Amino acid sequence: MSFDKEILRRRTFGIISHPDAGKTTLTEKLLLFGGAIQEAGAVKNNKIKKTATSDFMEIEKQRGISVATSVLAFIYRDKKINILDTPGHKDFAEDTFRTLTAVDSVIVVIDVAKGVEDQTEKLVEVCRMRNIPMLVFINKMDREGKDAFDLLDEVEQKLGLKVSPLSFPIGMGYDFKGIYNIYEKNINLFSGDSKKNIENTIAFDDLDNPELERIIGSKAAKDLRDNLELVHGVYPPFNKEEYLKGAQQPVFFGSALNNFGVRELLDCFIDIAPTPRPKMAEERLVKANEKDFTGFVFKIHANMDPKHRDRLAFIKVVSGTFERNKPYLHVRQGKNLKFSSPNAFFAEKKEIVDISYPGDIVGLHDTGNFKIGDTLTEGETLHYKGIPSFSPEHFRYINNADPLKSKQLFKGIDQLMDEGVAQLFTLEINNRKVIGTVGALQFEVIQYRLEHEYGAKCTYENFPVYKACWVEASDKNNEEFKEFKRVKQKFLAKDKRNQLVFLADSQFSLQMTQQKYPTVKLHFTSEFD
Ligand code: GDP
Repeated sequence: MSFDKEILRRRTFGIISHPDAGKTTLTEKLLLFGGAIQEAGAVKNNKIKKTATSDFMEIEKQRGISVATSVLAFIYRDKKINILDTPGHKDFAEDTFRTLTAVDSVIVVIDVAKGVEDQTEKLVEVCRMRNIPMLVFINKMDREGKDAFDLLDEVEQKLGLKVSPLSFPIGMGYDFKGIYNIYEKNINLFSGDSKKNIENTIAFDDLDNPELERIIGSKAAKDLRDNLELVHGVYPPFNKEEYLKGAQQPVFFGSALNNFGVRELLDCFIDIAPTPRPKMAEERLVKANEKDFTGFVFKIHANMDPKHRDRLAFIKVVSGTFERNKPYLHVRQGKNLKFSSPNAFFAEKKEIVDISYPGDIVGLHDTGNFKIGDTLTEGETLHYKGIPSFSPEHFRYINNADPLKSKQLFKGIDQLMDEGVAQLFTLEINNRKVIGTVGALQFEVIQYRLEHEYGAKCTYENFPVYKACWVEASDKNNEEFKEFKRVKQKFLAKDKRNQLVFLADSQFSLQMTQQKYPTVKLHFTSEFD
């Protein structure tokens, strides 16, 4: 197959949702359609179930599982589908943000009874800011839930989306009869009461056809006609260009558990979802069909076995082909690297692969060369944008608890930070190290991993910080900036990339600082140009 055809057949996306909305169930059903797995239950849910845990093995086990499901690939109707896993647990939100830099589109799963939940709101906001095309799947229609129109309203208002329904439910919960597929203009009905089997699809291009009454009963037929009239009156028709720009979001209804509405979603998805999109580097826009390979690291996963401390760096191929044993430039280090056993990911396994195309994810064994955000090219100096650090929520001093193991401790901290487990700040005033995390759980993960993988021990000490703000000074020599640095010395630190960070101890002090030093700009993310 030609290079261009390989690009055109790829769909790389992520599924985002609040925990329990049905992401794992939907993923599994998609894999079943692709013939990638044979039975339900094969995809493990990798969510971290406990928030405060003392059972470290449980975290490790769950993290281990998440390696296996980091990328799930399968072929469906000749399309190569790559699903990138996005942890739903809020403590791992930063992992998900980073993964969103590697997807070309997303599917948002919403629970019909719970509606829009806070984790969905945060993740969708990130996608919206990046104009990532989004498709919405309203799940669990076999349960009693919110009225479909109320839910569409909620999606528009809370998520700031502009929806265009491409399917519409016939009844709900106990009365859930099936789905009218607006995209294909046909009806899918449940058979009997079991809600497990799908009757053959019935084609309906004319809703006034009296057959409709016979099949779903006169009340349901009338309701459906009324509802569809309202849908057409209120919502704009589907427009692929708008969807691809991130300006319109098609909506599907269904029940992942009952495998209802999933095929419709998948068929439409492979039709409309974007092929590998161009990506902005600091230097220029890079298109997928350029001949030369470029790619970037969006995730690093540690090997949990202390005897093999290599890691797997996940690279998204942006352009060209990635080939085994070919030397590529590691731009940050300025050196060439060759990879003899790059991995490709399939449904439940990974395999060595000779060639990968734009949209694909390659797993490279790494002994410490890579950091998140690193770029690989065929020689061009390129830096891919879009992997900012966000201000952590929790901050603690980290202390060495075993003076004989300080080398191990520093190496461990260094590598864990490269993996993106947490962020490290070094205070300007005394060089003390402060760890910032999104969730409290990461402190335990870090302590455990330092001990088991690096043989180092650490303790923590509280450090009250409200937000970390990256500092931008228009003129480093101006008096105001000098005064800011002098007065706020106690609150200044450097992040891992040596950028200056202001650690505000309260919202009030942040506001006061901003008022007092208006030319010193304070940002909640590390990327601000
Ligand atoms: P995740 O946390 O988003 O990955 O959610 P899961 O896929 O693990 O689903 C959470 C729970 O909802 C599980 O008990 C599923 O069996 C259940 N579930 C998923 N889809 C449906 C559905 O369509 N209908 C019903 N009734 N339950 C569902």
